Amino acid sequence: MRQTTQAFRTRYRADIHRLYNPWLHGAFVLLFGIVAIGGFWRTVQQVQPLEWLAVPLTLLFFNFGVYMVHRHLGHHKKSFARMFYARHAGDHHSFFAPGHMTYDSARDWRVILFPAWLIVVHTVVITLPLWWLFSRVNANVAGLFGGCMVLGYLTYEVFHACEHLPPRNPVTKLPWIRQMRRLHELHHRREVMQERNFNIVFPLMDYLFGTLYWEPEHANPHPTRTPMTRMQHQIEIAGNPIAVLAYASSVTRWPEWHPSSLKVDGQAGPLHAGSRFEEDIRAGGRDGHLSWEVEEYLPGRRWSAQARGDHGLSLVVTYECEALGDGTRFVRTLEYQFRGLGMRIANQLLLKRRIEHESAASMRALRDMAQRHLAPAGVIA
Ligand SMILES: [Zn+2]
Ligand SMILES: [Zn+2]
Ligand SMILES: [Zn+2]
Repeated sequence: MRQTTQAFRTRYRADIHRLYNPWLHGAFVLLFGIVAIGGFWRTVQQVQPLEWLAVPLTLLFFNFGVYMVHRHLGHHKKSFARMFYARHAGDHHSFFAPGHMTYDSARDWRVILFPAWLIVVHTVVITLPLWWLFSRVNANVAGLFGGCMVLGYLTYEVFHACEHLPPRNPVTKLPWIRQMRRLHELHHRREVMQERNFNIVFPLMDYLFGTLYWEPEHANPHPTRTPMTRMQHQIEIAGNPIAVLAYASSVTRWPEWHPSSLKVDGQAGPLHAGSRFEEDIRAGGRDGHLSWEVEEYLPGRRWSAQARGDHGLSLVVTYECEALGDGTRFVRTLEYQFRGLGMRIANQLLLKRRIEHESAASMRALRDMAQRHLAPAGVIA
């Protein structure tokens, strides 16, 4: 896991009060909301066709309201909303970052749901006075309005929680939820969060204000004509090509030999085309996270995978093996690029040289580790 996210999570969790009960938190919000909605809607009688308009109009108004609050108070520091800014831009966005979008345990709901008292304030301080005001004119419109204001709040909480659900949960497969999860995941990117995808339930305001941002999940690794930085290293390893490539493409073992690989989350053993895995790295002196997908595996010949990371980083790594006497000639090709201009300049000035250095070192480490690993199995002739 990306060091900073992991460290933040540990710190945040340590600060949660030991008596905090996530189930009580969720149940209170849900129950209070349902009772409040019921209370408002019970005042409604024999609704006229035109009065029903209060429902879509209120939901529209709510969609606009949360959009403005999220965009201008959640991601821009205003003195009168300092606490919300700290809680959202600080806590929520540090806790959930690309590649780390899901909660681990129910206690993590503390950083997803609003504080429990907020639904009381939203209902009693904001909605109730407006309801009273509207009820002077039309009791049905007022009742529908009041209920929908609280309904909007509840859907926000439920959708946002779904957007941070672990992907194995079946709810995440529902089409509407799936789209919103993708939009919200993009919103959690550091370079996107202040600009795009502020809607949580329905992206209407993002659409109207031109802040909607979409990117398919399997993006082309070469989206621009920016030249890729390419580096190739080779080394001779005692062992046959099949065994050597199997070891090198067992990605969970990368941290054993690759100096920039800190932790790999994936299946054990050599990975086949289509497999995905996650890696925390420290490359060129910077911490980062890569989401990988294997593109090709020809045992003993070729293994190739592509990854995407922070700062618009995309890369492709290819391993090629060839029998050389009793051993193997192992060739590693790394191609990568950054989308942002700043990172491209940093790459030319500094990163490239460091990564080159780390890559060369990794080849020697791979040789040593592969030989040590393969020897007991009797692979070396
Ligand atoms: Zn703003
Ligand atoms: Zn979120
Ligand atoms: Zn946000």
